[in-house]
Amino acid sequence: MTEQAPAAVQQRRAQADYWVYFDGELRRYGDSHLGLLTHALHYGTGCFEGIRAYWSESQRRLNVFRMPEHFERMRGNARMLHMEVPLPVDELCAITVELLRRNAFTTDVYVRPLVYKANEEVGIRFHDLRDGFMIVTVPFGAYVDTTGGIRCQVSSWRRIDDNVAPARSKSSGIYVNSALAKTEAVLNGFDEAIVLTQDGHVSEGSAENIFLLRRGCLVTPPVSENIVEGITRRTLMTFARDELGIDVVERVVDRTELYIADEVILCGTGAEVSPVIEIDRRRIGDGEPGPVTRRLQDLYFRACKGDDERHAEWLTPVG
Ligand code: PMP
Repeated sequence: MTEQAPAAVQQRRAQADYWVYFDGELRRYGDSHLGLLTHALHYGTGCFEGIRAYWSESQRRLNVFRMPEHFERMRGNARMLHMEVPLPVDELCAITVELLRRNAFTTDVYVRPLVYKANEEVGIRFHDLRDGFMIVTVPFGAYVDTTGGIRCQVSSWRRIDDNVAPARSKSSGIYVNSALAKTEAVLNGFDEAIVLTQDGHVSEGSAENIFLLRRGCLVTPPVSENIVEGITRRTLMTFARDELGIDVVERVVDRTELYIADEVILCGTGAEVSPVIEIDRRRIGDGEPGPVTRRLQDLYFRACKGDDERHAEWLTPVG
């Protein structure tokens, strides 16, 4: 066994005390266990969400960002995979708020709901198996750099196709595709991967949607390009159209358009709004986060952090 650093041991002890929602009850993380043969662990038969709650220092509380939309998406995704999220969206939101209240974090938090096939048995299928459900919350900082800009590689791994497995579904097994792309990029010295579809068009990042600024217009691949239908993507489209007066076009994007874009953005709940300054060793724009990216970032963080009254409807306050 490798010895763990003291900080990691401390983190594990703290985590054991977190309140989680597991199999219909609020419990401690350390008292919640899954069996070795749990179906989803072996076959990836689960689907998850990723939701962020931001700590507001001025309001002295957490605000959860677009939480009902995440749970609604999860209900649809689960259905694709012959699973049911066990509760209506408003109850899921209430449970999440209660977890965050009990855990009393005073920092930004990631909320991870997961619905999964819980039977402890061998045999590949979705039907006639029991659905398990959990919500776990953990303190969470930046997933990728959002300040100086990140360097990306077009992955040698292609995005999983909708008729192989539903790419939009956020199902656990599909993240093997994302993990391969991310690891390849990082081991090659880049920060993130950009993944192409089977026919060679731009799909998305390993866990982010993508936007390009070309001739003053924001371009993003349509939902039929095997992307996750991102909530951050939708948020940035609203900002661009309604607040910056910039046209947003959903269309098929060629790989080489990446190299001549004026600005490129990766976005997602984890990645937030991340400027891309280099792709495949070609500088994007001036090699620095561009002005449209900066304005979108500013609008996004102000809305998430509760500093923009106009978008208060996107926030669920905790306590
Ligand atoms: N694509 C993939 C593959 C993702 O995992 C995510 C993160 N959920 C996204 C895009 C962005 O989606 P969202 O903005 O809803 O987090």
